[in-house]
Amino acid sequence: MSKIQMTTPLVEMDGDEMTRILWQMIKDELILPFIDLKSEYYDLGLAHRDETDDKVTFDSAYATKKYGVAVKCATITPNAARVTEYNLKEMWKSPNGTIRAILDGTVFRAPIIVKGIEPCVKNWESPITIARHAYGDVYKASEMKIPGAGKAELVYTDENGNETRELIHTFNGPGIIQGMHNLNGSIESFARCCFNYALDIKQSLWFATKDTISKKYDHTFKDIFQEIFDAEYKEKFDAAGIEYFYTLIDDAVARVMKSKGGFIWACKNYDGDVMSDMLSSAFGSLAMMTSVLVSPDGTYEYEAAHGTVQRHYYKHLKGEETSTNSVATIFAWTGALRKRGELDGISELSDFADKLEKATIDTIESGKMTKDLALITTMKDVTTLNSEDFIKAIRKELEAIL
Ligand code: NAP
Ligand code: MG
Repeated sequence: MSKIQMTTPLVEMDGDEMTRILWQMIKDELILPFIDLKSEYYDLGLAHRDETDDKVTFDSAYATKKYGVAVKCATITPNAARVTEYNLKEMWKSPNGTIRAILDGTVFRAPIIVKGIEPCVKNWESPITIARHAYGDVYKASEMKIPGAGKAELVYTDENGNETRELIHTFNGPGIIQGMHNLNGSIESFARCCFNYALDIKQSLWFATKDTISKKYDHTFKDIFQEIFDAEYKEKFDAAGIEYFYTLIDDAVARVMKSKGGFIWACKNYDGDVMSDMLSSAFGSLAMMTSVLVSPDGTYEYEAAHGTVQRHYYKHLKGEETSTNSVATIFAWTGALRKRGELDGISELSDFADKLEKATIDTIESGKMTKDLALITTMKDVTTLNSEDFIKAIRKELEAIL
């Protein structure tokens, strides 16, 4: 069988620890035997980020802007312990933060659904994708402890020195205040990313805030989404047979619980933080969550939602057997290959991605899985495989399908 040819390179961002080990296994067993892989390789492993003063992270993001599609392995975000462990020159910033800032994107997270790993919510038949706004609000807020009686105000001073004031509260005793902001430009980008992604995967889009209480702040989010939808997307949504609707956040939560799934739920920054953790644990496992960063100009970076699985890596280093789940990382590859296939008009590449996903799901549904899934499955008599044997089992399925 001849290998599938590519025309445009995929930006490949290698990473750290256990996921770096899985990365190589996935390439060797599931990608390279079938595809003449054209990739522009960036090593975002922490040692190489340190060697290049983190330049490699920036370069990988610029390459993503240039070529349009990237696949990323999980990476360490250094803390004090990592600075010592890797003898770092600096506590480098989160690579995901750097890449997100350059691509100005929105992160979409969706669970991978398989029979036998049942969501806690019985009526969820299809995945629910969370789109989290990645800028501002409480994550860029100023806060103050109010020691005692006094008046707190919001003050805006324009470029000519004119002040506008709004009373927050007249305190009789101690309390707390918080001032947060967002930018119309960032909300507009967020809205366009959500509308584009909904069209891309042909699923309806929900957006919810608390505009009845927050009549200026949250209401601005609601208005910007509606204006952009009416002006740029309404006809495209009608043609695709999908809908956009806005509702209150508390109504959205109630409806999500009663839904069958199969839609995108756009959330403000804080709501997205909380709701994505709720959804991933309710759907079963962090190791089964995919994540894609989509920029408003249509570039895509695919990855797994989980981290580098450090605890398993230390076992691996000691020569002990690991049973680390590679599914989300495999789906990062298939997401990127499918998108590359779509953009370059190479249907074999997109078909291959579909088949690799099917082989992965079929492997689990046939009772072969890693330990994290074996612990939560409703299936009887399952076979728990180690990291490598699980990937080899998928290869067998894949070869049968191809
Ligand atoms: P983690 O790597 O997601 O792992 C947390 C725990 O979840 C693991 O110890 C493991 O539980 C379980 N788990 C996660 N993924 C799994 C998988 N594929 N297969 C089986 N079990 C899995 O999070 P962390 O330990 O908090 O972070 C480790 C490093 O990852 C940190 O340096 C952090 O900066 C980085 N990180 C990177 C990204 C990213 O690049 N996108 C995201 C998050 C964290 P058991 O140990 O109980 O088996
Ligand atoms: Mg969180």
